[in-house]
Amino acid sequence: MKILIESFTKLISRIKGLKYIDEETLRELLKELQKILLKADVSVQTIYTITKTIEEKFKNTKPPEGISIKDYLIYLLYQELINALGGDYEPKTELPKRPYKLMLVGIEGCGKTTSAAKIAKLYLKKKFKVGLIETDTHRPGAQDQLKQLADKIGALFYGDLKVKMSSDEILAKGLEYMLKSKVDLIIIDTAGRHKSEEDLMNEVKRLYELAQPDEIMLVIDATSGKQAAAQAEAFMRYVPIHSIFITKMDSTARGGGALMSVIKTGARIKFIGIGEDVDEVELFNPRRFVSRLLGMGDLETLVDKIKSIEEEEKLVKEIEKDIEEGKFTLLTVKKQIESILKLGPLSKLLQLLPTSMFPNIILKSIDEEQAQLTQEKMRRWYAILSSMTREELLNPDILNASRIRRIAKGSGTSPRDVKELLQYYQLMKRWISSLKKSRKKLLKFFEKGFPQSI
Ligand code: GDP
Ligand code: MG
Repeated sequence: MKILIESFTKLISRIKGLKYIDEETLRELLKELQKILLKADVSVQTIYTITKTIEEKFKNTKPPEGISIKDYLIYLLYQELINALGGDYEPKTELPKRPYKLMLVGIEGCGKTTSAAKIAKLYLKKKFKVGLIETDTHRPGAQDQLKQLADKIGALFYGDLKVKMSSDEILAKGLEYMLKSKVDLIIIDTAGRHKSEEDLMNEVKRLYELAQPDEIMLVIDATSGKQAAAQAEAFMRYVPIHSIFITKMDSTARGGGALMSVIKTGARIKFIGIGEDVDEVELFNPRRFVSRLLGMGDLETLVDKIKSIEEEEKLVKEIEKDIEEGKFTLLTVKKQIESILKLGPLSKLLQLLPTSMFPNIILKSIDEEQAQLTQEKMRRWYAILSSMTREELLNPDILNASRIRRIAKGSGTSPRDVKELLQYYQLMKRWISSLKKSRKKLLKFFEKGFPQSI
């Protein structure tokens, strides 16, 4: 993980130091990215998808206004890495029922027992009562190991230190004990070693059927890299896998490959282990993970900025579409005001109109002469529009005196305010339709000056 962070940080600072990004530079940067991903043991297919998508988006889309080409490339990298890790999601940790039974499965040495204790500790911290059951009768010391961890963190334990019972027996008695003890979360640890893989899988399947767990979590060691998927698929053939715990992210560069390969199976990663200690566990969130990977504190600011520009563009497109389709209603006005309020103090209302449709000169003239909308007035109008029903927004014609009174009351304004807004709407509507009708004529007109007739 440390190596991975270092390589990515180097790549990012290289991008930041560039004066320009031409085809050649882009190719070099992508090659560098491929090298980093290869080192992380990401599969060739995934590497191809990531770099190809970045390349295409970079070539075929323009950075949003105000965002530099460098920042845009970093943003694309950030987005594609998140996508490769399953998109932006926050794993759920609440317990939908009590007792909630969680069963951990995975091959020997992957970190099941340690992870069981880590999860237990997380829930203990949240004031839940947690019980651990050790069903591993194959590995010498497994019972002791979990017992000691349970004592250390203050969780209940059930197992068979003398290893006389079968795993089935331990499970049945353990569940009974935990139910009696009114435990909120029961974590069942299983064996990872067996005579053969098939034996192991059969035991896992049998324990699953006996325990009827609410969640089966597969534990995978990050050093397995891109092989993680095959491991997951092997278990998936026997039992449903609801979530994944990737351990030892701290001790290998292959963690990225393990994460990305597992995601391909459709499984969701819930936790990552980042050390041997019981506290060294993290809830896995692709966005947070990538931010750290790219080693950028200011990345979030950049992303927020781009997101808000994208939102703005979407809203403007909606408004444009309404107007193009002749659906200029109060709902359109509401969207306009919403976008302006969101974007801050702009007297930009009219600039939100499609520039493709109207020459800038009109916008400027109108802006100065007719649309001196103050922030305060917009807020008042927004309150008024928010007090209207959808039907009223879409068919302003139905707004009679009694509706206007109701709306004024609901928005804490006066009927005069409502009427003023309606007048504005009518004016805009007339203005737009006359513009649309004689666009060409107007275009000529505007070369000479602003017509008095509008
Ligand atoms: P099990 O056989 O699946 O139950 O695996 P164990 O829980 O016994 O863990 C095997 C080894 O991996 C132990 O030495 C653990 O301390 C170590 N281990 C588990 N999780 C992590 C982790 O997140 N980071 C590191 N560095 N070591 C871990
Ligand atoms: Mg174990």
